[in-house]
Amino acid sequence: MEPRDNAVTAVTDQYPSHPVVMGQTGFMVSLSTLLAERSHLLVDGAMGTELFARGLTAGDPPEMWNLDMPDDIIAIHRAYIDAGSDIILTNSFGGTGFRLKLHNLQDRAVELSQAAAELGRAAADASGRDVVVAGSMGPSGELLVPMGEMTPETATAAFAEQAEGLIAGGADVVWIETMSSLEEVEAAVAGVRLAGDIPVAVTMSYDTAGRTMMGVSGKAAAERLAPLGLVALGANCGNNIAETEAAVLQLKVGAGDTPIIVKANAGIPEFKGDKLHYTGTPEVMGAHVKRMRDAGIEIIGGCCGTSIQHIAYMRGVLDGTIVAPDIDAPASNNPAPSEGRDAPARRRRRRRE
Ligand SMILES: [Zn+2]
Repeated sequence: MEPRDNAVTAVTDQYPSHPVVMGQTGFMVSLSTLLAERSHLLVDGAMGTELFARGLTAGDPPEMWNLDMPDDIIAIHRAYIDAGSDIILTNSFGGTGFRLKLHNLQDRAVELSQAAAELGRAAADASGRDVVVAGSMGPSGELLVPMGEMTPETATAAFAEQAEGLIAGGADVVWIETMSSLEEVEAAVAGVRLAGDIPVAVTMSYDTAGRTMMGVSGKAAAERLAPLGLVALGANCGNNIAETEAAVLQLKVGAGDTPIIVKANAGIPEFKGDKLHYTGTPEVMGAHVKRMRDAGIEIIGGCCGTSIQHIAYMRGVLDGTIVAPDIDAPASNNPAPSEGRDAPARRRRRRRE
C-alpha cells in the first residue's frame, strides 16, 4: 500500500459522525441476541478450501470472486447455512489494501469488501432464519514498526477502509481473524470503529507452540483485548487442535464475560505432493465440538480444512443428534518447522482461509 500522510486524519474526516450504515436489505442480525437465544452458535468452515475445490488457483486473489464468480460465493455460504451454520464469514480475508496490493488491487478495497458482504447478506437473508453475516478481516501481512514498515496509523487506515466496505455491504459484525500481533489487532479495531458503529469480534492464531507467531499467549490476549468491548474473542486456525483448545481455555479464564470463539483447523496440515491436506475427519471435529461446548465455549466453527460435511457433523453434535466419538485432540507431531521454511508456508495457509 502507498504510504499515506495523515492517513488516520483523512479517515476521520471521511467519517465525521461515525454513522451506523445499515445493510442493503436492513435485515441486520445481532450476534449477542442470537447467542442469548441459542447458548451456542456454530460458525462456518473454510472458505478457501471450498474456493480451491471450485477452481481457484494458488496466487489468485480470492476476493475477485466476489465480482467474477458471485454465484459460487453465494452457493458456498448457502451450503454452510444449510449445514447448520449460524454465522458465516465473508470472502474478504485478504481484503486490506496491503494484501490486495499483492494483486495490484489496492484501489478496490472498499468495492471488494462491500461485494463480499453483499453476497453474505444475500445468502443469509434468503435462508429464512437468523444468520449472522461476519465481515472477515485477515491480517495485513505486514509487520508493524520497528520490525517492519507499517505504522499503526497506516494499519488503522487500511482496516478502516476495508470495514467501510463490509459495513456498506450489510455485514452484522466485523470479524478480525488469524491475527498474530496485539498491536495490529488494536489498529484493526480502531480502524473498524472509525468506519462505523458495528460489533467487532477478534480471533488470533496460536500456531507457534500455543502462542501466536508474535509470542502472544491466550492469557496475554485475554488481558489486553477483553477491555476493548468486543462482541466475542477467541482463537482460529492454529497448528493443531490441542494447542488451539489450550489457548481458548486460557482466553475463557481471562476474558470475563466476553463470549469465546474457537475456529480450529481440521486437524494437522500435511503436504500430499504440492497439495495441503488436513488430517481431521468430521468425527475429530465432532469430538472437538463436544470438548469445547463442555468447557463453556459459546461460538464454535472450523478453519482451514473444515468442509461443509464437517460443519454438518458438528451441528449434529451441538444439537445432540450425533453422539460425538471419544477422540483425543490431534496434537502436533511435526516439530515447528524452521523459521526459513515456516514463514512462507504459513502465509500460503493463511491465504487459503
Ligand atoms: Zn485456518
